[in-house]
Amino acid sequence: MNATMSPPYREPLIPREPGERVIPEPPRRGEPGGPPCGICTGQSTSPVWSDENWTLHPPVGGSLPGAVWLASRVHVDSFSDLPDELAAEFGQVVARVERAILSLGDVARVHLYRYGDGGAHFHVWFVPRPLGMLEASGMMLPLWEDALPNVPDEELAAAAERVAAAM
Ligand SMILES: [Zn+2]
Repeated sequence: MNATMSPPYREPLIPREPGERVIPEPPRRGEPGGPPCGICTGQSTSPVWSDENWTLHPPVGGSLPGAVWLASRVHVDSFSDLPDELAAEFGQVVARVERAILSLGDVARVHLYRYGDGGAHFHVWFVPRPLGMLEASGMMLPLWEDALPNVPDEELAAAAERVAAAM
């Protein structure tokens, strides 16, 4: 962590120990034994952009307009499960999304996250770090995104539509 990065909380934060491990882990959405896949069952936000292999969606309940998530059309879990053609295409589609988000302006950098802990359908998050917001650099951006007040979902959707228009 560099000196500029700082969490959206006042000091002192009190370190704590991790809890007991949960093994086996509970099944995720879209995994055998788990709840249905929200993406395949259309429970997620409607795409603002799509092509034959990918769909791009606005978030709900977020604080940073311009954030979007990209999903494969095919239900596979992670990078290692993507067909080679899609894996090769991924870099190109990410570049298009990144350029589109940067074109909104007031964005320093576009962060790209793949967690995979919530659902078993391949998707990645694009989160714009606001220009000049150095304290939200690196791993601090998701914390700031969580701590800042949410903007209306309509505003998130409108920003995602602008991203889609720039694709
Ligand atoms: Zn799915």
